[in-house]
Amino acid sequence: MNTLLLKDNEEDIKIAGGILARGGLVAVPTETVYGLAANALDGEAVAKIFKAKGRPADNPLIVHIANIGDIEKFSLVSEIPEKAYKLAETFWSGPLTIIMPKGKAIPDEVSAGLDTVAVRFPSHKTAQAVIKAAGCPLAAPSANISGSPSPTTANHVLSDMNGKIDAIVDGGECAVGLESTVITLALDKPKLLRPGGITVEEIENVIGEIDVDDAVLHELKSGEKASSPGMKYKHYSPKAEVILVSADDKKYIDFVNGKKSESTAALCYDGDSDFLEVKTYLLGAKDNYKAQAHKLFKMLREIDKNPEIKTVYARCPEPNGVGMAVYNRLVRAAGFEVINLEKV
Ligand code: AMP
Ligand code: MG
Repeated sequence: MNTLLLKDNEEDIKIAGGILARGGLVAVPTETVYGLAANALDGEAVAKIFKAKGRPADNPLIVHIANIGDIEKFSLVSEIPEKAYKLAETFWSGPLTIIMPKGKAIPDEVSAGLDTVAVRFPSHKTAQAVIKAAGCPLAAPSANISGSPSPTTANHVLSDMNGKIDAIVDGGECAVGLESTVITLALDKPKLLRPGGITVEEIENVIGEIDVDDAVLHELKSGEKASSPGMKYKHYSPKAEVILVSADDKKYIDFVNGKKSESTAALCYDGDSDFLEVKTYLLGAKDNYKAQAHKLFKMLREIDKNPEIKTVYARCPEPNGVGMAVYNRLVRAAGFEVINLEKV
């Protein structure tokens, strides 16, 4: 298959909409990461997403809309909980995904057999225009091969998906850089399933106290059931081994310099690089979690461009605010391997 490279102009967006309406796959920029979209109401089209990504069939997809009214218009959910209105009013359009009891229009391929569905209204103007041009809600996971870092540029998508999908709409670099915050309202008490650019504190300011799923910060024990199936897979990882190092500045620098070799690199804060004797990949300032979120996947893909690198020692962010999302992705990229130098 020849993958068309489209621009974010009116004419190309119309072409993208046509491909989607006919059951094809198009990668679309959003404010979080690039999504790999198909008509969410067409199970056969959605099945192609799983095939192109190599995504496990039990990992459900997020349905993207371009208007809050789309939820009722397309029978996406069976009930809109009161708190969903409050969250939508405050955070939509934007990087928050809300899980609700699923409606009759949702094919099993989208919900992976669950009785709930995840819905998001992205703020990216191109994403909104493509959804409108397609004339249907779009199911879209991140547009990477399953397991590898999510794409934040059209080039990232191309390197994973060239020849496997119908088209890519190039909308430049994604602003947030990490996937959306996911909250479920299908339980008695709202629960955060995946941290993202919208923080626990921001959500609690709107709907009161929420739970945070154990799998957000901890590895699932073997046999334990994931509330969000995506949380159980190794994720976001470059080819090199990533190891998180929890330490203050000096201990981190001394530790990494002690591991100095051609095949070692550091994924670190801007201020560390002057002191490190290995190749460095910079995440941003230590206290700037938004910058780190924006750069994390890009840096993981940069590391992949250097096949000499076999081990990456990454700094371990505090899991607060947007730092919770950065930590959540990094600890999965590291397969939960964390060296703790704070306590020694
Ligand atoms: P991605 O689109 O690659 O960002 O993945 C979507 C994430 O949302 C995955 O972690 C899924 O497991 C999660 N998700 C989607 N739908 C549901 C649902 N109905 N219940 C729980 N988690 C969901
Ligand atoms: Mg993904």
